[in-house]
Amino acid sequence: MKDLSTYAKNTWCPGCGNFAILNSIKAVLNVLDEEGFPLEEVVLVSGIGCHAKIVDYINVNSFYAIHGRVVPVATGIKLANPGLKVIGFAGDGDAYGEGLEHLVFAAKRNIDITMIIHNNRVYGLTTGQYTPTSPLGFKGRSTPQGTKELPVNPLELMLASRGTFIARGYSHGMDLLKRIFKEAIFHRGLALVDVLQVCVTFFNMYEYYNKKIYELKGHKYQDYNEALKKIREWDYNSEAPIALGVFYKKEMPTFEERFLKYQTKAIERHQKIKEMLQEAV
Ligand code: SF4
Repeated sequence: MKDLSTYAKNTWCPGCGNFAILNSIKAVLNVLDEEGFPLEEVVLVSGIGCHAKIVDYINVNSFYAIHGRVVPVATGIKLANPGLKVIGFAGDGDAYGEGLEHLVFAAKRNIDITMIIHNNRVYGLTTGQYTPTSPLGFKGRSTPQGTKELPVNPLELMLASRGTFIARGYSHGMDLLKRIFKEAIFHRGLALVDVLQVCVTFFNMYEYYNKKIYELKGHKYQDYNEALKKIREWDYNSEAPIALGVFYKKEMPTFEERFLKYQTKAIERHQKIKEMLQEAV
């Protein structure tokens, strides 16, 4: 394996679920490299939050965006150079709060980028406020009496927004995480991987998740209704079992294919007009 470490000192808390995401993505980047995809053609994008430091720790091209804006930056990079593999990292506050509408539009457009969400269900960097996926009653810095609102189910939202690859991973057990990341990165179109990434300092859910999780087996992931049923099984608030794996996957034309086709036609038209004008002169 290529050592993709950088000189940056890692400042995550010991035991943080971000380490599993970091090590899994490094392993998958090595697979890309072995399979002949040059790592110079990979670009990582992150937002703001504990997750965002991941781009400091991996020695490939990267862009540190601002809060909630990972998707537009990744979209711009992909449209400017469609040959690149663009992988975005965002926290749950980042992607499902401030950046939510970008995610919905990325799904409906089917832009070919991978979005990995470090869903620890708490704002860790700012020391423990509730986020869109915190459970009802979550007690944090901004909600000492407990939240009075239900969490969103981001996977259901992505499915309704026409997402073409929807999966859930967990930061304990890297084998499955690596398999999901690899499949997501090789998927053509918007791939969303919601990772239940445990924040050991402000919302330690290891014990809870370890009792609830199971891996999807024999699931018909091309079937919308089957995917919806499985996605709704656990709604980020109930005591139901928590499925991990790929819930939904579908092949569709990507945004950049449609966009660049139009651009090519426009360039051809422009060229024709230019030739006609030159002949007229
Ligand atoms: Fe990880 Fe939480 Fe520490 Fe941030 S605060 S590095 S999410 S354990």
